[in-house]
Amino acid sequence: MNLPAKYAKNTKKKSLLFFAFFACFAGQIFLASCSSNEQKPTSNMSAAREAKKERKELRDAIKKIEPFFQPMGKPEAYDWLGSHNEPGQTFDEYLDTDPTKPTKERQKIYVLPLGTFTPQQKKVIETASAYLSVFYDLPVEELPGKAIPQKLGAKDGRFNEYLKTRQVRTGFIMDSLLKPDLPKDAAALIAFTNEDLYPDETMSFVFGQASFADRVGVWSLRRLQMQADGQKFLQRTLKIAAHETGHMFSMWHCTKYECVMSGTNHIAETDRRPIDACPECMAKIAWLSDIEPATRYKNLAEFCRKNGLLKRSGRIRPQGRGFASVAEARTK
Ligand SMILES: [Zn+2]
Ligand SMILES: [Zn+2]
Repeated sequence: MNLPAKYAKNTKKKSLLFFAFFACFAGQIFLASCSSNEQKPTSNMSAAREAKKERKELRDAIKKIEPFFQPMGKPEAYDWLGSHNEPGQTFDEYLDTDPTKPTKERQKIYVLPLGTFTPQQKKVIETASAYLSVFYDLPVEELPGKAIPQKLGAKDGRFNEYLKTRQVRTGFIMDSLLKPDLPKDAAALIAFTNEDLYPDETMSFVFGQASFADRVGVWSLRRLQMQADGQKFLQRTLKIAAHETGHMFSMWHCTKYECVMSGTNHIAETDRRPIDACPECMAKIAWLSDIEPATRYKNLAEFCRKNGLLKRSGRIRPQGRGFASVAEARTK
């Protein structure tokens, strides 16, 4: 989750890229509509009415679930918002950015295991894939695993003295291992690795990094597993997977609530964050996935029940309970 330093820096550039993509996409729709005749104004009008109705319904849904969520508090020392002055992004502001969303042609999330893993890590990747499918209501496919070369160029790998381990440069992974194999129908390609990562010489490590324009990203499990039992390791991985995929769909950091889309500066802050998206971010997800919020909450509660996320594990909060409470309240 600490890719935001880079994310914040590149927001403007990325917005432009998203804009370029959507201008092109809208152009295709326009050309297609020109090829047919007078039915179009009516259908355009009814599509606009439908869109307006959908937005109104989502705004109503935001209001209904607000009581279940905790507004963002004052940042603690070293927290993300203590050193990053971010504007946040409401549902309406999100829609105003012409966000990148899955399309009919690109609606699958691909998950790629990179390198070798323990059986526990393999299971966590499998669960994270299933979580993404429910969280974004999109098909998810796990690709056959791929190796990271043992020998790396001087600019693509280095040795970390603190962990006594090799580190791999994220740009190398994205450019050389992910981009060439990006499936045509990919809404996003997410790679997990057990290697420690770094973005460039200025930083000692990074949990992960994504290229929003190229729809690829890589995240390391290595530091997520440090000082964590199985349940905490799983929760951290689910949070990272949902957060980073949200960025790939143009969602900015959330500052209004304690939210899975809020930026985090360190692992303790990640642990404090909920696994859930706040009302504003929920509306963005329901809009981009075209799913009814109550159905999504029901599916998420079911997922959490199946994966032990409703039960307390030691001192770890049962994070799936938020989904369950909302699902229950909304389906009564
Ligand atoms: Zn982020
Ligand atoms: Zn949020």
